[in-house]
Amino acid sequence: MRIPFIAGNWKMFKTKADAVKFAEEFKSLYKGTDIQAAICAPFTDLEALAEIFKGTDIKIGAQNVHFADEGAYTGEISVSMLEEIGVDFCIVGHSERRQYFAETDGTVNLKMKRLLDSSIRPIMCVGESLEERDAGKAFDRVRSQLEQGLADIDAEAAVRIVIAYEPIWAIGTGRTATGEQAGQMCEFIRNTLIDLYGEDTADQVIIQYGGSVKPANAAEIMNMAEIDGALVGGASLKAKDFMEIIDF
Ligand code: PGA
Repeated sequence: MRIPFIAGNWKMFKTKADAVKFAEEFKSLYKGTDIQAAICAPFTDLEALAEIFKGTDIKIGAQNVHFADEGAYTGEISVSMLEEIGVDFCIVGHSERRQYFAETDGTVNLKMKRLLDSSIRPIMCVGESLEERDAGKAFDRVRSQLEQGLADIDAEAAVRIVIAYEPIWAIGTGRTATGEQAGQMCEFIRNTLIDLYGEDTADQVIIQYGGSVKPANAAEIMNMAEIDGALVGGASLKAKDFMEIIDF
């Protein structure tokens, strides 16, 4: 019932010329699968990607957005600006944004609400630090991120949400969570969603794992019962690697 969803997160990599090169190669490799694929790219690449992927099933996503409709917010991008160029998804609350750009559960919640009022589906990132995991606080941390990030969002809107579980200690470190660790937390996330929204709604929410996913470990991650997809950083930068992950 849930369509598996694998998204690339390019972070601050790829100029528009690089993005066009990737997209043309990826499009030629992409034969269509049962898996939903998307690339979350820098703002400056999105229009070119939308153009190249037009008429395919490949979706595009942004990596951040502002929650206000418009206003004096120098350097920011609004939801309608993204909608106009055909963006399908938007990452919210990535740990790098929480760490370096002062994102809080409060701003995550505002962004989630604004996106759910639009045609763009949010990918909300949650995940604990190594200290929290070692202190046995991983589950409490993730539950609190979910409760605060999803505050005042009703069940009807919640079915459009994608949750990405990204343990901070596994991002860009080469240290992937084991299938068991990732599966356990994704099951905990599903149970938390059941508490918040009931079983029918929770069953429809896509839950991804992210953190050093690569062709070699994609199958182990994707085969866990409560994991519906992956958010892939480094390994999404090469069309061939990303395609191999989708073809896990
Ligand atoms: P990584 O990044 O795959 O390079 O670990 C994942 C992410 O930050 O979304």
